[in-house]
Formats: sequence, C-alpha cells, structure tokens
Amino acid sequence: MTQQKTAGFNSNTTMSKKVHKIGVLTSGGDSPGMNAAIRAVVRTGNYHKLEMYGIMRGYSGMVEDDIFRMENRSVANIIQRGGTILKTARCMEFFTPEGRKKAYDNLTKRGIDGLVIIGGDGSFRGAQTFSNEYDIPCIGLPGTIDKDIAGTDFTIGFDTAVNTAVEAIDKVRDTADAHDRLFVIEVMGRDAGYIALHSGIATGAENILIPERKTNIEDVIKSLEEREKRKKLVNLIIVAEGDEFGGANELTNVIKDRLPKMEVRVCILGHIQRGGSPTCMDRVIASRMGYHAVECLMEGRHNVFVGILNNKMNYTPLNEAVKKKQRINEEWMNIVKILAT
Ligand code: ADP
Repeated sequence: MTQQKTAGFNSNTTMSKKVHKIGVLTSGGDSPGMNAAIRAVVRTGNYHKLEMYGIMRGYSGMVEDDIFRMENRSVANIIQRGGTILKTARCMEFFTPEGRKKAYDNLTKRGIDGLVIIGGDGSFRGAQTFSNEYDIPCIGLPGTIDKDIAGTDFTIGFDTAVNTAVEAIDKVRDTADAHDRLFVIEVMGRDAGYIALHSGIATGAENILIPERKTNIEDVIKSLEEREKRKKLVNLIIVAEGDEFGGANELTNVIKDRLPKMEVRVCILGHIQRGGSPTCMDRVIASRMGYHAVECLMEGRHNVFVGILNNKMNYTPLNEAVKKKQRINEEWMNIVKILAT
C-alpha cells in the first residue's frame, strides 16, 4: 500500500509512527563538521539497534539509488575531517515530482522510514516538499558556514570557517602593516554577513560591509580620508561576497578612483573557508545535533530541524528555516565603529 500523502498534509511536527531504518545525507554546500554529524547520527542509530543507511551526494543518491548500510565502523576516523564522506550535491531532479517519486520508491524498497538531512535552508526546503508528499519523517541538521538559519545560535561549519578567515586575515594584516597599505578582504557570505562581521571584529578591521546593511560608499571614503589625515595607514576592510555594493574588486576600483594616492590591495579568501579540519566547537555541536536528530525520529517528531538556542536543543519546523538576514544587531556595527578608531 502506498504511503503517499494527500496534498495539503499538515505541518504538525509529531507523529506516532515508530522508525526502524534511517537514511542520512549531506546536501547543498559542504561545511566542516558534516562528518562529525554523520558519525553521531550513525552511531546513535546503531546504539538504538536501528538500521542506518548512508545516501550519497545529497538528494541525488536518493533519486539514483546510491544508498548503502552504515555500521559504526563506516564512520571511524572521520570526526576530524572536513568535507563529507557522503559527498554533497545540488540535485535538479529532486525539484520535480517525478524525481521525488523515484527517491521515495528507492527508500521504501529498503524500508527506510526516517531521514536526516544535513544541509542549508535549500536542503530543508527540499525535505519539507518531500515530506509534504510522502509519509517519511525528515529531521534537518543545519550544516552551513554562513550561519544564516533562524532558530539556532550555531550552524555546523561556521566556527571553523570564521576561524580560518581570522587566521588568514591576521596574516594579511602583517603585510599590510609592513607596507602601510589598505587591504580589502572578501570573505564568504552570499546572503549573510556573519563571517564578515565576526572575522572583522576579531581581526580589528576598520570597516565591515555586509549584505544585511546598505553600504554607503561615501561613508567608507570619508572614514579612509579621516584615517589618512591621522596617519593611520594600515587599514583592513572586510567585505562579504554578497554585499549589494559588490565584492572586494568593485569596492577597490571605487577607492582607487577616489583616493588615487592610497595603496590598495585586494585579497579574496574564497574556498579555503569551506575546508579544513573542524574546530572543537563544530565537532561538539555536530555531535550533539546528530545525536538529537535520531532521538527526534524515535520520539516521533518530524519535519523539524535541530538547533541550539541558549545552550538548549531547539526544534524549528523546516518550513520556518528562513534566512536570518535581517537579524544583525545594530550594536555590533557600533562596536566595530568604536573599536576601529
Ligand atoms: P543549501 O542546502 O546549501 O541551501 P541548495 O539551496 O542548493 O543548498 O539546496 C540543496 C538541494 O536541495 C537542491 O539542489 C535540491 O536538490 C533540494 N531542494 C532545494 N529546494 C527545493 C525545493 N523547493 N523542492 C525540492 N527540492 C529542493
């Protein structure tokens, strides 16, 4: 008998069906700590005598039937590794009802009756769409370096990414100092400025430009002129790649145009921010969240993602996992301004 739901199934987040077999996948952009989360999910499930399955390359593995059994040994020696042993992908077929039907058939032929999806808000939207159509509970774990998901203070990967950025910016500062130069440094963050804001404060940057706030180029030029007058020649400007004014190159062109005497250099940190061994913090939150994802499925929760708010586990319906774009605290920007003088 098919378990397909009728359209408009409600988004109630508990149900009584007991799970026996759980599939885990990583989807969308990768982030350091995803392996620690996979390990936690697999080992918690095996501890409870559930059958655990790995699904390769995000939703692609579900659609293409690339699914395998995972034992405790399958996740040995991965907690310290960046990337994801399950690989990740963006799967176009999963956007279509036919693709999702194939995915459902591949899960049900193995009896998989619960899913843990480690990814960003896009992956959560996919999970929500799937579980609106099919009776398979989905639990999300926020795996994204951008920290742009509401309902959690932490996302798996942010701490590692921001520490990588800080380490790199510190090095740039040394050379900026040696040559009395202005450096415009671009960090990741297409929609969210958390990496820019945190790494900028931690490295003592003079200006931080983020997508959540409109960039006033006149203010930036004015602050550079003032510092030049005061002979403060070493300046760091941190810009998130998604700033609406543009990235580091666009900003530098304007500065060179307006302040031709100023020595300006561009540094785009790029993909180094995604890789590397996860920090202690990312390993710990990934382990806690992975453990709770399985607990959630066993308790009959469905269609929520696991977060941590004020050091307590917090469960948010997948369809509320909206971008946290508007929430940057103005006080933080004030701190940047005062401390950079
Ligand atoms: P992230 O999870 O990092 O935000 P994406 O936005 O690329 O990454 O989403 C990852 C994958 O999730 C997509 O490639 C697609 O397979 C699936 N997905 C996203 N949104 C939907 C949707 N509305 N319906 C079905 N699948 C979706």
